[in-house]
Amino acid sequence: MPTRARHLARRGAALPQPRARRRAVVLLLAAALVPATALPATAVARTVSAEPAVAQTVTAAGPEHRAVALGTPRRPVAIPDPSRAGSLVAPPPRAPEPAVTAAGTLVVVNKQRPLEPLDYAPHHLGAVAGTDVELREDAAAAADRLLADAERAGVPMLPRSGFRSYETQVATYAHWEDVLGSAEADVQSARPGYSEHQTGLALDVLPADGTCQAFGCFGDTPQAAWLAEHAPDYGFVVRYQDGQEDVTGYTAEPWHLRYVGAATAADVAASGARSLEEYFGLPAAPTY
Ligand SMILES: [Zn+2]
Repeated sequence: MPTRARHLARRGAALPQPRARRRAVVLLLAAALVPATALPATAVARTVSAEPAVAQTVTAAGPEHRAVALGTPRRPVAIPDPSRAGSLVAPPPRAPEPAVTAAGTLVVVNKQRPLEPLDYAPHHLGAVAGTDVELREDAAAAADRLLADAERAGVPMLPRSGFRSYETQVATYAHWEDVLGSAEADVQSARPGYSEHQTGLALDVLPADGTCQAFGCFGDTPQAAWLAEHAPDYGFVVRYQDGQEDVTGYTAEPWHLRYVGAATAADVAASGARSLEEYFGLPAAPTY
């Protein structure tokens, strides 16, 4: 087993028991609520056969496998948390959602996990307020709140790119391949069908105050610092962080936000994970 995989396995094994039990209960309940017939058999078969990473998690955690195979429910099941008397907040499910059933917000797309189908497009797109940048409606509403609060905090930002279709990504990748060559294009842009932007859950931003008008200078702006601290409050994570190139396959992109929902974003931040791969216990995806 590669060192990284052992490390991730250790992280999983080291989960505090009460938390793990709570998740298991939630996932068992969730699995029980979703009948196997709710999904076409092909979807289940494809999930298991095409995603060895998830299949590995199965042996370590049976309930998580069931949730993956049957589809994660749209709404977390609320059950009482014995450690917080009176609370009805359940922890978010920690299993990625297959793109083919991506009704939720937990799909993980990287160089080893293409969208299924490759030309997948989300339903229910909406524009970020005052722009023609589109995201899935839930992500667009969250982006509106984030951008309004960032402006109030003195770090105004504008969305630059949101949902990009398969066809758009064909053109985007071809452009960078022309400019940079294939090897460099692969660490700065995704091949069509492998872009998080195609999920409608990813948003690129730049400062709106003229201090930095290109992604190259974004990391040094107050906007980047504000996002690193506050993006989880709005359900976003900074998806490609510094020092994670060997895991995510991309150089740091402090401007690229990925919507995962408020509960999961808070849980990612609390876990200390620096990538969705690490958070979900998925293998590193440095290359195609
Ligand atoms: Zn991006």
